[in-house]
Amino acid sequence: MTRAPIGLLRPGSASDPLVVVRSDTWGYNSIGFFSKDEACVIDPGLRPEDIDLLASAVMTRATTTPRRISHVVVTHAHHDHIRGWDAFPGAEVLMPRVGAEKEAGPVARILDAKRKLDERFALDLPAFSFPAPTDVCDERLAFRVGDLEAEVRFVPGHSNCTSVVWIPALRTLCTADYLVSPGLPYCRWEPAPFETAIATMRRWTVDEGIERIVPAHHDLIEGQANILNALDAESRYFVAMRAAVRDGLERGDDERHLCRSAIAAGAATRSQDYGVRAHQDRDNARRVVLEMLATFDA
Ligand SMILES: [Zn+2]
Repeated sequence: MTRAPIGLLRPGSASDPLVVVRSDTWGYNSIGFFSKDEACVIDPGLRPEDIDLLASAVMTRATTTPRRISHVVVTHAHHDHIRGWDAFPGAEVLMPRVGAEKEAGPVARILDAKRKLDERFALDLPAFSFPAPTDVCDERLAFRVGDLEAEVRFVPGHSNCTSVVWIPALRTLCTADYLVSPGLPYCRWEPAPFETAIATMRRWTVDEGIERIVPAHHDLIEGQANILNALDAESRYFVAMRAAVRDGLERGDDERHLCRSAIAAGAATRSQDYGVRAHQDRDNARRVVLEMLATFDA
């Protein structure tokens, strides 16, 4: 595997205390923000050096006295997001309850996936355990970092345990695995709640004045018009897939053909070519087809 240098995509400043470290792997964004003598990190990073770079930026940017990292947010229990949760002794660790209370089977699978990535990176890391948060989020969990109010909001859909982080003063919503490639939704659970999540975030964007989206992978989205376009692209995709599956069901198509029609219909709604990432169309289509087959009355 080739390694491009990792780097500070957003270094953080007094006027904009958002820090983003971009990894060369999966376009992963390690995210942080700071205020006064405290700092928060969100899904801290894939490799130790990503995590160190994020930590040093949130602790030392725009200050002469190093800050303490007061909070760690784990947005959801997928293996790439839980990495580094334990790297900040003394910090409050916040996570959705549904993620924190996963059963032994899913936890073992997540830890196994984590170990596989360690191997791929040739990392020999100390023992790692599944996140043990100091506080869990049911619907919403407010916290304060220096002068900045922030809130973990439970938004299941991408997974059954996903949350996002809203920082009102920065007009910034950190969306975890939502909006990672607008128009190519990344649904790893059920499409219906995913679509509800998109509609919910659209409402927040307008009602609460969201001006910046920081997803866990790939590019930030800035400006309310661009955010609404990105959210609408996700909605259009599912509407198109569902219409194609409905037509296919009426024709009596089998599951394979339903999936094929759904993939084509979803992909046709976007102008951008996502290359290999478009594999996700197949997964999304399968989930839409299964959900619609379960409720279809022939
Ligand atoms: Zn995820």
